[in-house]
This record gives sequence, structure tokens and C-alpha cells, in this order.
Amino acid sequence: MKADGRARLRELPSVDQLVREIEGRPELDAIPRARLTACVREVLAVERRRALHGGAAEVGADALAQRVVDALARGAFSLRPVINATGVVLHTGLGRALLSPLALERLVLVAAGYSNLEIDLAEKKRGSRYCHVEGLLRRLTGAEDALVVNNNAAAVLLALETLARGKEVVVSRGELIEIGGEFRIPDIMLRSGAVLREVGTTNRTHLEDYAAAIGRETALILKVHPSNYRVVGFSAEVSSRELVGLARERGIPVMEDLGSGSLVDLRDVGLPYEPTVPEVVGTGVDVVTFSGDKLLGGPQAGIVVGRQELLARLKKNPLNRALRIDKLTIAALEATLYAYEAGTARETVPTLQMLIEPLASIRRRAESLLARLPSAQVARLGAAVQDDQSQVGGGALPTVELPTAALAVGTAALPAQDLDDRLRRAEPPVMGRIKDDRLLLDCRTVLPEQIPDLARVLSAL
Ligand SMILES: *Cc1c(COP(=O)(O)O)cnc(C)c1O
Repeated sequence: MKADGRARLRELPSVDQLVREIEGRPELDAIPRARLTACVREVLAVERRRALHGGAAEVGADALAQRVVDALARGAFSLRPVINATGVVLHTGLGRALLSPLALERLVLVAAGYSNLEIDLAEKKRGSRYCHVEGLLRRLTGAEDALVVNNNAAAVLLALETLARGKEVVVSRGELIEIGGEFRIPDIMLRSGAVLREVGTTNRTHLEDYAAAIGRETALILKVHPSNYRVVGFSAEVSSRELVGLARERGIPVMEDLGSGSLVDLRDVGLPYEPTVPEVVGTGVDVVTFSGDKLLGGPQAGIVVGRQELLARLKKNPLNRALRIDKLTIAALEATLYAYEAGTARETVPTLQMLIEPLASIRRRAESLLARLPSAQVARLGAAVQDDQSQVGGGALPTVELPTAALAVGTAALPAQDLDDRLRRAEPPVMGRIKDDRLLLDCRTVLPEQIPDLARVLSAL
């Protein structure tokens, strides 16, 4: 078997041979030569491994050339659009929040030309890049001052490093969370140089627990939003307001990592109550951090709002320079915040639009998708519109199920798992979710303009 494999190895075409085979094909016009050669090497390496391990390697130059062409035909770029039919509105793997048309417009303007990023045009002097969003954040949250860094993990790291390095930070055991992607409160704490002082138990922490833990070494009380999990049943936590009362008595600040952090209350559209950023600021919490690309619906960013004297220390920390946001983020964030101030956020920020879209409207989109499939294909795929539940995602409101409508596909002959594999490799790639042996294409997160493309991909299966 192994000796056989070595014989097959010798039959494989050379890199040059295979490159010559595919050169000049019109569908590869836009592919740089270095990319083409790299792809040829990859395809040959796979076959070489297969031969060495005694597998049936493909050695025909024609078939191998076709494999290279297929791989390259996906386009010259690695990062490309995907149709999100998972129903998870804030899907970290698929890029979280989509930007509003206004944010895109501002981003393109600022990216394509020079801007007053750090120039105070009226005063003819060097300004601060944060000034473009500080005023908006102050007015929208009620805080004295604001700062924006690369993401919320960076915001927490910067705040802990500035306010508590070498000292203790008191945190409830019920809030020592991991939110995926390596963000764990104890680890961030360690990296910041602060010392974690755990109090209470997993399910219950009381004000006395905090009070007993505060001592000469305490720099900060930290409250953390549990984000993607919930403690239910026999549980107790201490409110932000109570923590502020205790912290004032002891002369230390309170920080709250809100995670998703929404500026608006969405109870009127059926979502459960979550304290908004202005409410938390209103309780007197000294430093509040939240993400730009979760419920806010803006670009990736970590927003810090709070008391001016504390934020001044954060701004002066050299670590802040290393975590600084770029002009594209500022442009998109300013436009997103502008929509909140103008009162147009619900109509223009895609994350909010997707969360509040009524079931009837989603169902119409699912039905229009079904109507676009040839009837023979509807039968082959077993396609039907089906009600289900979608999720908010991004660690926000994990227990909320939003009523939605999906196109369900999959039969005994065409199993959901196979359809899922094929849709992920389609162009554009499509990601759905599998439930009870059916592949659900949740239309809440499929944009209206993507319906024709999705119908084309499904018709071609
Ligand atoms: C999501 C989240 C973070 C991390 O935010 P990123 O913007 O992804 O860096 C930190 N803390 C909490 C509580 C979160 O939910």
C-alpha cells in the first residue's frame, strides 16, 4: 500500500505543469499569479499527503487543474460577504452589527480623503480624535466624559490597569464570566495587574459580602453583566445603586462592565427589561464600559463613559495609545450615535431594525423566497415556510426568543447536514441552522436585497 503510494507520488504533475494547464483561463483573469501558484501548491500538497498515507490520490492533470480553478473561482479575496440565515442578529463569527447607510456614507467619505481627525480647525491647533464622539456620548448617556478604544475587552483592560494595578478589585463570584473568544474576567484582571477579590457565591452575593471585603488594598468595586448566561432560581445580586452607596461610604469608585450596553429601552417591542447605559450612569456608577458593535449597532469599539477625573487618568495611560481607535471607527461610530440623538436609530440602525421587525414582515420575506424557487426544486428540497425562534446573540439577552419565520429544507434523500455543507460552500456562502433534521434559513437576518441571491443558490443545489 505504502509502496503503491510512492509510485502514485511520481505520477503527480509538477507545479509548473499545472500552472501551465490553467494559465489564460478567462475566469482567472483577476487572480494574481502568486496566488495562482500558491493554490496549485496547496492542491498538490493535499494529493501528496493522500498518496503517502495510502489513499487514492488524484493524479490526473485535468482533474487537478479543475480543482484549482474551482478554489480560485470563489474570488480573489478571503474576507467576503456571507448570507446570515442563522437568525442570530449579533453573530460574532459573521461580524456582529451591520452599519447603517449613514455610517457607511461617513466611513467612505473619511476613508477616501483627508479629514480633521486630530486638527481643531477653528483654534488652528492639534485636537483630539475623541472629540468627534465625546459630546454625543456625554449627551446620550448623561456621563461627564467619554473615551473610545478598540473594543470592550480593551476598555475593561485599560480601566482596570489605570484604576487598580497592584491593588484589589472586588467582584461577585456570580459575575466571574467567560464570554468566548478568550475574554474571561479573572484573566483580564491578571493581565491588568489588579488583584481579584472574589466575594459571595455563584448564585447569591449580598451587600455585606462586598462590605466585608473592602479594605486598605481595595481600589475598585467591579460589577459585570453576566451576558451570555443567567443564574435563575435561588439567586441574589446587589444592584448598581446599592454598590454605589457602599463605595461612596468607603471612598472608592465603582465600575460596571455592561457588555452589550443599549442606549434605548426596547420593552415596547417585546424585549425584556435591561438597564440602559444612561440608567446605569444615573445610578452613580463611576465608570461604565460597553461594546460599539453589540446592541448599539455600530462599529467594533469599546466605549467608556463616566466621571471626568477617572476618565482623564484613562486617557493619559500609555496603554490607551496602544488601544486607540482609527478614523474609520470614529466616522462610523459618530454616525451611529448621531442616529440615536436624532431619534432615527430604530428606523436606520440595522441591529435595531432586525430586533424589532414584526413576525408578519419576516414571514412575507420567507414566503417571497419560497415563491422564487421552481416548483420542482421546492419538492426536491422539501422546502416550506416554518415559524421558529431567533436569537439576539452577542451575549445580549441570551434567554430571549424572538418569534421568526424560516424557510425549512431537507429530506431523507437530501439531508439537512448535506445541504448545510453545500450552502456554506456556495457563492455567496449561506449559513443556516439545523433543527430536527431540517435546515432552517431564518429570514430575520436575511436582508431583503439578499433574497434573489439566496433563491438562486437554493435553485442551483
Ligand atoms: C461582549 C462582552 C465583552 C467584550 O466585548 P468586545 O467588544 O467583544 O471586546 C466584555 N464584557 C462583557 C460583559 C461582554 O458581554
